[in-house]
Amino acid sequence: MEFATFADRAAAIEAEPADLEIVALVRELLEDADADLEIVARFVQGRVFPAWRSRTLDIGPNACYEAIARAAGTNVGSDDVEEQLAEVGEIGEVAASYEFGGQQGLGAFTGGGGDAGETGDDLTVREVFETLSDLAAAEGAGSQDRKIDLLFGLFNRCSSDEARYLARLVLSEMRIGVGEGTVRDAISEAFDVPGEGVERALQVSNDYGQVARVAREDGLEGLDAMELEVGRPVQAMLAQAGTVTDALEEWDEAAVEWKYDGARIQLHHEPATGEREPRTSVFSRNMENVTDALPEVVEYAAETLEEPVILDGEVVAIDAGGAPLPFQDVLKRFRRKHDVEKAREDVTVRPVFFDCLHAAGDDLLEEPLTTRHDRLREVLTDPDRSEPNEEEVEGLSLLWRTDDPDEIESIDADALEGGHEGIMLKNPASTYSPGRRGKHWRKRKPDVETLDCVVTGAEWGEGRRATFLGTFELSIRAGDDSEERRSAGSAVEPQNLETVGKVATGITDEKLEELTELLEPHIAVEEGQEVDLEPEVVFEVGYEEIQTSPTYSSGYALRFPRFQGVRHDKDPRDADSLERLESLRSA
Ligand code: AMP
Repeated sequence: MEFATFADRAAAIEAEPADLEIVALVRELLEDADADLEIVARFVQGRVFPAWRSRTLDIGPNACYEAIARAAGTNVGSDDVEEQLAEVGEIGEVAASYEFGGQQGLGAFTGGGGDAGETGDDLTVREVFETLSDLAAAEGAGSQDRKIDLLFGLFNRCSSDEARYLARLVLSEMRIGVGEGTVRDAISEAFDVPGEGVERALQVSNDYGQVARVAREDGLEGLDAMELEVGRPVQAMLAQAGTVTDALEEWDEAAVEWKYDGARIQLHHEPATGEREPRTSVFSRNMENVTDALPEVVEYAAETLEEPVILDGEVVAIDAGGAPLPFQDVLKRFRRKHDVEKAREDVTVRPVFFDCLHAAGDDLLEEPLTTRHDRLREVLTDPDRSEPNEEEVEGLSLLWRTDDPDEIESIDADALEGGHEGIMLKNPASTYSPGRRGKHWRKRKPDVETLDCVVTGAEWGEGRRATFLGTFELSIRAGDDSEERRSAGSAVEPQNLETVGKVATGITDEKLEELTELLEPHIAVEEGQEVDLEPEVVFEVGYEEIQTSPTYSSGYALRFPRFQGVRHDKDPRDADSLERLESLRSA
């Protein structure tokens, strides 16, 4: 296909407002692409290479402006291009505003082997692709100049419309209204294959070009035969924010995991065979290859994995004792290209895996989460140990299945105590949907509003926590609380407080010790494990919801209350009131 034809079609698509019509136009484009189908299916989305390939053009906007300026003639400098861009706001428009093709002498640099200096009519889609591939491959000293030369060669042969789409393609700013769904539907219509078949093939291959070609040549059967490949990254399944309440309402039970505060990784590993070294690749959430930055993950794979696998997980930074460090520490390692060994001395990382997409030739995307997790445990378990014990499997994220909110609360408390971010709630029956931010994975929603509550009671703990006060009773102000009393500085009387719940979650042992010291002097009455406290201390508490409840004297209960901190700056008289609670509830 001539590049001019592609540019014409792209212009028509860009001018079309209706989604259905856009699909029809893309369908025609794919039908007419013949031998260039793979390239066209990617170009129309503004991609040069398949999404899974780490290969990029690696050319910055400035180099692109420079190439445009050179092709535009001796009077134009890259400053002019930038100035115009600032005015017009879009590189395609700027590129289209120049007249190219006058630079015969310099056109000798042109890529793709076409005749230098001729205007666009013989530039083909394939030539553009091949020249951009050469450009991507240019490395080392002088590579930037070589890239600019190659790009100049292309622009020099472009008509105005061709230049518009070439510039946008190079800078990954196609913006003609063609999203992934559009191309999926267009492939389905053009080659008469069901949309779901196309969708599945896209999920496993991440390559619109290949899927379009297979759909055309081998139909649904061909698409169904496409599989995951170890070494080729898959888009990561994503999470939504959500609450425990919703999760338990929608699913019979929830799979609960700790939420690790690190960076997402996808590990692809093929163990060594007789003569071949093991092959390991680690990809980021955006499918960037980050293998070289994370030697610990590669070593872990070599030591642990005995079959070809694709695993999904998180890499976390840890201190000398193995406890997790904040996310910022992972960033010191994650995309690092130089001095990795030195960086490793400062910050150690370790992988934790929570999903298994492929193991020993089996694609597991369609399997339920629980099956995938069982398989994950198997692949990470040392085969010499007869009874695999989840707790002990290094690198395995624990998973609990429960429909009991209290159990979820205590998993959350453990996660926070262990220095993790909180919990993830997952639908145990759900399949793995690459690239989707679906409802099946939920990160527990951060609290929108918090309440400042007076601590009016507590319980002595048990076992190792026997010397700590815990499970704190929370109250808010109600009843006689007039301005006069406040300004007269009178204390809050216990009878003017109403209970709203108890908080036991989100408190580490260290913190419990501190809180016990703070509260013990205020014990008014002690009965068995339970104590009543004088109203002196204010806690800031997060919660998921405010419900009506006969259990507490306010008539309301905080659902999933979580300790956020002590409001040392607040007096019980400044704690939140029943009125505020009611207004938050109706908000
Ligand atoms: P967020 O980045 O806030 O949207 O939260 C989702 C991210 O949490 C995922 O992309 C993972 O990188 C990370 N994460 C940590 N622990 C888990 C887990 N157990 N399951 C899934 N994702 C997790």
